[in-house]
Amino acid sequence: MQLISNAPTGPIENSWDAHKFNLKLINPANKRKYNIIVVGSGLAGGAAAASLGELGYNVQCFCYQDSPRRAHSIAAQGGINAAKNYHNDGDSIYRLFYDTVKGGDFRAREANVYRLAQVSVNIIDQCVAQGVPFAREYGGLLDNRSFGGAQVSRTFYARGQTGQQLLLGAYQALERQIGLGSVKMYPRMDMLDLIVVDGHARGIVTRSLYDGKIEVHMADAVILATGGYGNVFYLSTNAKGCNATAIWRAYKRGALFANPCFTQIHPTCIPVAGEYQSKLTLMSESLRNDGRIWVPKNAGDKRSPGSIPEDERDYYLERRYPSFGNLVPRDIASRAAKAECDSGRGVGETGLGVYLDLSEAIQRLGKNKIAERYGNLIEMYERITGEDPYKVPMRIYPASHYTMGGLWVDYNLMSTIPGLFVLGEANFSDHGANRLGASALMQGLADGYFIIPYTIGNYLANAKPPKVSADDPAAKQAVANATTITNKLLNGTGNRTVDSFHRELGKIVWDNCGMARNEAGLKKALSQIPALREEFWKNVRVLGANEEFNQSLERAGRVADFFELAELMCLDALDRKESCGGHFREEYQTPEGEALRDDANYSYVAAWQYQGEANSPALTKEPLTFNYVHPSQRSYK
Ligand SMILES: Cc1cc2nc3c(=O)[nH]c(=O)nc-3n(C[C@H](O)[C@H](O)[C@H](O)COP(=O)(O)OP(=O)(O)OC[C@H]3O[C@@H](n4cnc5c(N)ncnc54)[C@H](O)[C@@H]3O)c2cc1C
Repeated sequence: MQLISNAPTGPIENSWDAHKFNLKLINPANKRKYNIIVVGSGLAGGAAAASLGELGYNVQCFCYQDSPRRAHSIAAQGGINAAKNYHNDGDSIYRLFYDTVKGGDFRAREANVYRLAQVSVNIIDQCVAQGVPFAREYGGLLDNRSFGGAQVSRTFYARGQTGQQLLLGAYQALERQIGLGSVKMYPRMDMLDLIVVDGHARGIVTRSLYDGKIEVHMADAVILATGGYGNVFYLSTNAKGCNATAIWRAYKRGALFANPCFTQIHPTCIPVAGEYQSKLTLMSESLRNDGRIWVPKNAGDKRSPGSIPEDERDYYLERRYPSFGNLVPRDIASRAAKAECDSGRGVGETGLGVYLDLSEAIQRLGKNKIAERYGNLIEMYERITGEDPYKVPMRIYPASHYTMGGLWVDYNLMSTIPGLFVLGEANFSDHGANRLGASALMQGLADGYFIIPYTIGNYLANAKPPKVSADDPAAKQAVANATTITNKLLNGTGNRTVDSFHRELGKIVWDNCGMARNEAGLKKALSQIPALREEFWKNVRVLGANEEFNQSLERAGRVADFFELAELMCLDALDRKESCGGHFREEYQTPEGEALRDDANYSYVAAWQYQGEANSPALTKEPLTFNYVHPSQRSYK
């Protein structure tokens, strides 16, 4: 298969405008003739459904929560980037573009990233118009703080609840369209398959989480905005429900999966406390604006942090990266924390932790200012650990957080299946091998509010999808597939819980395809995962019935998909014999221990195509060219 990115050529500053002008339009009266399915009501899906409804399309929007308001986007804490340059500190669209391409270790498509930086400024205006209560400065302008990988302050925030406030904005816009009748909302519906008719995405199969009813929904185009797959690691900062089912089943229907091994491990999470923990909690990167990260200079130093004098502390990020200090990008900060802990200088009972210390900032700014900025995070930390960060430093350790990989999409956000569009964290589009902090919300809203409204019209105008019936053989086959999987899971008579398999799978993936990877470990994982998957299908026990609210059944399906996806991640990581961003192959590093790219051989997007259960997936490469930001060894020193 040949991957055509459809990225415009010509001066990058004008390419999105020129592209938009060349996209076909559908006149307002004709829009209502088209049905569009949007799966997902987080920032990407909610924004898309609201915008398409506003344009006049008939939209059906699905989510598995009881309300669109509960999408995982609500968890986002720290902020959203935009190149507004309110601080007059040297920011610009070009600088945001530059930082993002560099931050992603030169593994993203330049044209997409430039467009993202361009529309970032519109997002803030749109959200302010919706009433999103961004923090403001005394003079009235919106306030900004800094996130990793940038030397300017471009992150807009609403205390530590930015995702929640942005989602409330998108939700209100969505509810308005629901009220007007242009969007029909289907909560508590689980998408289990994609319906492809004559090579085009024409619908989905859903299972009602209330009563297990399987239904067919047909449309002229399908949008997946179903979030990331960080829960493949079992322990992650993601909401427990986050899953890969929708994109994975689309992959099995022919959509290529890009860069599955590009996952993000976030440096500032509350460390794992015990074997049976099922969830990890993020402490927002925003804390690194004021928090200083350190470990004791001497390995094995078990003194309490307050008894370790200043000259016996190692502020290792400030020492190693004087220019960016505590605000180096996440991949770098995570690896540095791991290196400190591996060398015996980790803190806390397990030794898998480093300090994030607010004391200097409290002295400088006062406790009230710190509470104003991070109050809810500090409260959350205290509730979980029983320690008061105003008095003792927080302990943090890296954890799975975000996935840069996802379904391959072209510049129009269309996958390799015509009519199937993928938005937000579910696609692979803009972050390369490492996402910069506060850029996921930006991308989700850019995709939903500002890109898909243009590109989907062009598709519909060109494709003119013919009528298709819910009795189409492709729909029947997809229903049969979803039913078979559900029955197979329910009919198992084994004796292990779904969670016990997920935990074991997660540990294999974390140990071998997590913060550091190597050939031997990946090969080991590639033999362990299929063996465990086989045991899963033989020995899993799913309690309860189909016709009831059954979260054990829901989770079992997700874990079945995680097994297959985990294998693809390891295959991709094995194939990419270089280190870049979050993909750190131990064999490929600089003498200082930084990621060592191989641009001559790996400057491409790796897109994998399903070839049936019995065969290995096929790899197709989309070459990456850099005309503006020339690849160099990333340096934050
Ligand atoms: C703790 C935390 C804090 C974060 N903080 C920030 C931050 O400060 N700034 C930032 O930029 N990013 C942050 N991120 C990342 C960011 O929140 C996410 O990348 C982003 O919100 C994803 O949005 P989305 O719309 O793509 O997906 P989601 O918000 O995950 O929404 C997915 C939607 O798809 C639906 N769905 C999924 N599967 C199915 C299915 N099979 N059937 C039906 N519906 C389905 C769900 O119901 C949901 O509506 C944070 C992430 C975490 C975990």
